[in-house]
Amino acid sequence: MNLPPPEPIADLDELSRQVYRHFQRNRGKVDLEKRQKLSEYIRKFHLECGTLSPAVEKALKIFGDGEDYVFLWSAHQPNLFPYVGVVRKIVLMEAVKRVINEQFGKKVVCLFAIADNVFPDKWVLRASLPRIDAAEGKTVLRMPAEEKNQFVIDGYISHPYRISTIEKPDESVFEKWNETLERWLADSIEMNFKVLRKVGFRRFWMVKKTGRDRFQKIFDELKNLMEECWRRCKNFSDFNAFFLSKLVNEHWGYDTLFARLSEFNPLMKEKCVEFLSDGERCNGMFRHVDSRELGQIWVAPVWYHCECGGKVPLYLKEKKNETLKGECTNCGRRFSFSIPEMLTKKDLLEKTSFRAPALIYAFSSVFNPNMYVGGTGGWGNYYGTIFSFSSEKNFDLHPIAVWNPVDRYVGVGQLNAALYAEIRAFAKETKKRNLIFSSKFSILDYLLNMGFSEVSEQMLSHLLSKRNLREEVHMKTILDDIFSDDVNFKEIKERVH
Ligand SMILES: [Zn+2]
Repeated sequence: MNLPPPEPIADLDELSRQVYRHFQRNRGKVDLEKRQKLSEYIRKFHLECGTLSPAVEKALKIFGDGEDYVFLWSAHQPNLFPYVGVVRKIVLMEAVKRVINEQFGKKVVCLFAIADNVFPDKWVLRASLPRIDAAEGKTVLRMPAEEKNQFVIDGYISHPYRISTIEKPDESVFEKWNETLERWLADSIEMNFKVLRKVGFRRFWMVKKTGRDRFQKIFDELKNLMEECWRRCKNFSDFNAFFLSKLVNEHWGYDTLFARLSEFNPLMKEKCVEFLSDGERCNGMFRHVDSRELGQIWVAPVWYHCECGGKVPLYLKEKKNETLKGECTNCGRRFSFSIPEMLTKKDLLEKTSFRAPALIYAFSSVFNPNMYVGGTGGWGNYYGTIFSFSSEKNFDLHPIAVWNPVDRYVGVGQLNAALYAEIRAFAKETKKRNLIFSSKFSILDYLLNMGFSEVSEQMLSHLLSKRNLREEVHMKTILDDIFSDDVNFKEIKERVH
């Protein structure tokens, strides 16, 4: 029986204190050799991405050389121009790092693991920006990927292969993203201009005059970044991971380290052995499922990787069985492994990966980090499993942090939504406007409306001044500068907020 996980910590200082205490309790328990090996995969990633900056090199040296530092980690799928929640995980690690540096005088290393061996969901393949006159109120950038609706154990998935096997976007796709973004920006500015004039904004012409130049400058910077990532990447996953690393390491100057899960996963194979060899079937980690096609089964906490790029969900017919079975999600090939055989074969173990709760437990017990930044989804779904399992094993699990508040800002898309819906008072537009005000958009919407470094500066200064992870984040865009003394704009801001 799983206990509900404790409430996520809302106070930044309390979180940092708990992280530091975890570090103090676990000093001396760190497997230095493992961290050393992991550092080789980190170096490889940064070399390939072109982000082995002096700051990254320094963090990497600290990481591989000793244990007298606090270690924070997070992970996420490599989403196409990720929505802000993914980027925020990195900003939260940076904020905790600064608090610990300051209050305890201790060095901190942050790692972001690229979860490239999972199936791509719609967030991985799509990025959206607000646009009131488009269907569903958004412009969407898409990565074309083969769709196969497959029933897997207890639900359908539309892309039944690992993200790391998706090929690099071809030039026409990449060009289309560029064009779509350019059109989105130009149209949004034009729409703003027209509508602002109509509703009597005093300085409406500024949007076209100074505003357009500033937006264009950011767009050019973004274009360069995208081109560099596209030129360097060998697959789709890397395009996305490189974008994140370049944004964070180059543009923001963070020393956050990155590594691909598909590469370092074999370093945790001893945990795969631990899960599979436990006769009790690791209470909570093996999941009892009533499958429509397979009946009552016990789903193992690990996947097996088929050569075709698919994954095999391994399961036992009975809890006490010794044979794991499964069918590849992609090519349909059937597999059957005896557990004792699997445990002795290195190459079999190296072709596995963990399901989410098992991954967090495995990473934590192998590399001994002091904090994980997760998402709100995990809180509802599987953190309870990790907490219960850790307490059963007497394992001192690190704090798990979540920072997923609502953002309030008026970019070009939001301003259009606020005004356009007013002029054409149709029910449809009002619905779309509300959708725009409540949706979470790609980090591109932030970068283009605020400027590269401003996004990090505003998020960090919010955290370091409010010191609270639940408070709404109020952010300023270029439009705030243009309309700083306009009463109409102030009124719109209040409505959007
Ligand atoms: Zn297959």
